[in-house]
Amino acid sequence: MTQHTEVAVIGGGQAGLAAGYHLRRQGLDFVILDADAAPGGAWQHLWDSLHLFSPAEHSSLPGRLMPAQPGQTYPGARHVVDYLTDYEKRYDLPVRHGTRVEAVRRDGSRLVVEADTGIWRAKAVISATGSWSRPFLPAAPGRPVFTGRQLHTVNYRRPADFAGQRVVVVGGGNSGAQIAADLALDEHVEVTWVTQHPPRFLPDDIDGRALFDVATARRRALDTGSSDTGGVASLGDIVAVPPVRAARDAGLLTAKPMFARLTADGARWDGGSHTTVDAVVWCTGFRPALSHLAPLNLRGPRGHMLTDGTRARGEPRLHLLGYGDWTGPASATLIGVGRPARDAAREIAHLLRS
Ligand code: FAD
Repeated sequence: MTQHTEVAVIGGGQAGLAAGYHLRRQGLDFVILDADAAPGGAWQHLWDSLHLFSPAEHSSLPGRLMPAQPGQTYPGARHVVDYLTDYEKRYDLPVRHGTRVEAVRRDGSRLVVEADTGIWRAKAVISATGSWSRPFLPAAPGRPVFTGRQLHTVNYRRPADFAGQRVVVVGGGNSGAQIAADLALDEHVEVTWVTQHPPRFLPDDIDGRALFDVATARRRALDTGSSDTGGVASLGDIVAVPPVRAARDAGLLTAKPMFARLTADGARWDGGSHTTVDAVVWCTGFRPALSHLAPLNLRGPRGHMLTDGTRARGEPRLHLLGYGDWTGPASATLIGVGRPARDAAREIAHLLRS
């Protein structure tokens, strides 16, 4: 069945909901199509011990502050899911859960959104599909011959799943450090953390609040033609959230350089020594989930798309939200997505009225 709408938003995580909030304010007719059966986007799939790197009031979408989680400065992932569930209801956002978009095509003055449950003809599209559904695994030597368990960040849940096992965690970003810390703090797991480059911890007093301030200062500097302040990346990579700090301070979180290759039952290191390994957790990042946009032929370098702000270059009816800084500073964070969502809704309203 074909339905008509002014704007189709693809993805109902935080970015899609923020888009919905601002499309409503612009008085536009829209639908949000979301592949997940339940609200919460990627937050409903994160590991048990994950906590935000910012306090609740610094992790809010437009219009409604995230309430504090009793007893926790940094709310847990479940709390974020509850907040997003409430947000969706409170603003009566028209989210169709369990609807996966397979393709977006041009058809004259409309964009045709083909989903597994139906077709929507829209005047504009906002894609907000995140990256959780596109885990990236590097082509590491020996990976195909290793007979132990291999999983990605997206499959990791809790240390109890590895009781009595030797586990290698690969990756020097926040996921790698947090999962290595989670495992290292469990006495029943033997964990080795490996990183390609020595890990760069941010100073302990820097959390998501400060990172957002740094990103904002950089945006202001660039907007006003001042010299680049260097942004967040110049400070370090790993936020020293409480479990990471605890494991690090207990001497349990020391990174080794990458292994030379995996073998059938373990890892061989430069110099020839060998460790038997039961499982490898690849915390090696994500790519933007953009395959549904392939028919539009807009792909840019490294799996990204070229954009001016949130607007796709080459298709003014398409906006991209979330994903990473390339769609707006801190666009892939709870507090940061509000501003690009507002800009996208404004631009679409202007386009449709002109
Ligand atoms: P997602 O939450 O991934 O939502 C995308 C939605 O799109 C999903 O519901 C999915 O079902 C749907 N979808 C995907 N493909 C399709 C399709 N083809 N058709 C229809 N629907 C589709 N940010 C913070 O602000 N603070 C933090 O502390 C923080 N910690 C993080 C920790 C980790 C480990 C990770 C991975 C990220 C963290 N982030 C944090 C970053 C960011 O806030 C999250 O990644 C967030 O989930 C991104 O929201 P999103 O809406 O862009 O994408």
